[in-house]
Amino acid sequence: MSIQPDVISRLKEAAGPHGFTEDPQDIAPHLVEWRGRYQGRSPLLLKPRTTAEVARVLAICNEARTPIVPQGGNTGLVGGQIPFDGEVLLSLSRLNRIRKLDALGMSATAEAGVILAELQREADKADRYFPLSLASEGSCTIGGNVSTNAGGVNVLRYGNMRELVLGLEVVLADGRVVDLLRGLRKDNTGYDLKQLFIGAEGTLGIVTAAALRLFPKPGERVTAFVAVPDVKSAISLLHAMQEATGGLVSAFELMPRPGLQMVLAHISQTHDPLAAPSPWYVLAEATSGGDVQLQDIIERCLVAATGNGVVTDAVIATSETQRAALWRLRESLSEAQKYEGGSIKHDVSVPVAAVPAFIAEAGEAVVKLIPGARPVPFGHLGDGNIHYNVSQPKDGGSTAEFLARWHDVNAVVFDVVLRMGGSISAEHGIGQLKVADLPDVKDPVAIELMRSLKAMLDPLGILNPGKVLLPGKQ
Ligand SMILES: Cc1cc2nc3c(=O)[nH]c(=O)nc-3n(C[C@H](O)[C@H](O)[C@H](O)COP(=O)(O)OP(=O)(O)OC[C@H]3O[C@@H](n4cnc5c(N)ncnc54)[C@H](O)[C@@H]3O)c2cc1C
Repeated sequence: MSIQPDVISRLKEAAGPHGFTEDPQDIAPHLVEWRGRYQGRSPLLLKPRTTAEVARVLAICNEARTPIVPQGGNTGLVGGQIPFDGEVLLSLSRLNRIRKLDALGMSATAEAGVILAELQREADKADRYFPLSLASEGSCTIGGNVSTNAGGVNVLRYGNMRELVLGLEVVLADGRVVDLLRGLRKDNTGYDLKQLFIGAEGTLGIVTAAALRLFPKPGERVTAFVAVPDVKSAISLLHAMQEATGGLVSAFELMPRPGLQMVLAHISQTHDPLAAPSPWYVLAEATSGGDVQLQDIIERCLVAATGNGVVTDAVIATSETQRAALWRLRESLSEAQKYEGGSIKHDVSVPVAAVPAFIAEAGEAVVKLIPGARPVPFGHLGDGNIHYNVSQPKDGGSTAEFLARWHDVNAVVFDVVLRMGGSISAEHGIGQLKVADLPDVKDPVAIELMRSLKAMLDPLGILNPGKVLLPGKQ
């Protein structure tokens, strides 16, 4: 498929000076994603700098029925930001201004291309806190975070991106701009339209700016690395910590011993913080703004949990360097798995109480399917969101052979997830990775409604086609 030359020249003009490239070398890094799973194609990369330029681009695409794919930091893990042949790629990276930071009103208005870490830094300078935190925060953008409804490690306390969005500015498929950017805490003037675009993965509109909630900066932060005998004990510890702190736990991350061993073996400057190995670990963090003496509370809680067998050992970080070292263990898990051959990944959620049964049953099913396969379930236990990664057997077969079983492994894991009332995509979205699975796992009436919304907001199907919903299929 090719794009008509006159459409290309109109789009280049609309994107403004320095707002486009047709050089394959410049475009190439935007066509592959982080895991190297998808290779896209596009003859034209547009990089507009203003909302008005985005609006002009969209109007032309709509008129010419030219598909367009928005891209932020290109850190998405389901291939949503990767274009198919004949599609225009729209980078929002030059819409990168923080339009307003209102410390008194506890909000910030950031354009879509602002890097998440940059917003965190600017909030910090104003003595405020923006709590969204992902391992990709140095590259991912606010527009991408909104469009994937990003989660990360602080969801337990502060919610997903959806909970952090007060308002949005969105360019519709036909180029109209909808201004929903008021930073109000309360606004019951009809349907809450901004919600439609959060988590829509660029299929319903292009997010150009977001008004976001800020929070008081945490004063005290307590980070503990805790050994627990099993996942059920980890959940008991979560409840004990939440009760003891009055809900101040912000992160509660589960790690299995095999995962920690992979990190210690392959990631430089890491060491086991505890003397004896344990089957499971939790990285827990709690924060407070005022004079709560959080460390004392957490220490008492850990001592009590040790007394009743829920905890076997624990260490609390005593410096920022130690805290960073503990987080490095957690954040290196995915990378460490790369050195162990192929890894088949899942981003699933089940009710928190069902996590122990999920991990046990999925483990049995996977090992029955591929004897010797090594499940490494880890992640946001406090949200019931487990990154259920499966590493290839240590001594059997090639990586390619193992990865060829991706869909078979998905099928047995999803089967357990669905039986437990869970979701096959907890935080990464649908993109192209799970687009074929969605109709099998979602209520048919919900799929019909999604199709109706898509048809209303993008009647000609130009916005990121083939992502989230397959065109013309149920
Ligand atoms: C190491 C690593 C760790 C990660 N950890 C987490 C995690 O803990 N939690 C989590 O939720 N995710 C995580 N992710 C996934 C990813 O970082 C998030 O999905 C992030 O929100 C994507 O932002 P981005 O700017 O890179 O978007 P992109 O990857 O560029 O795009 C993602 C999707 O949003 C659409 N899009 C982008 N910008 C816009 C816009 N302005 N308007 C409309 N649509 C748009 C794209 O078309 C695509 O469908 C991780 C990724 C990596 C590589």
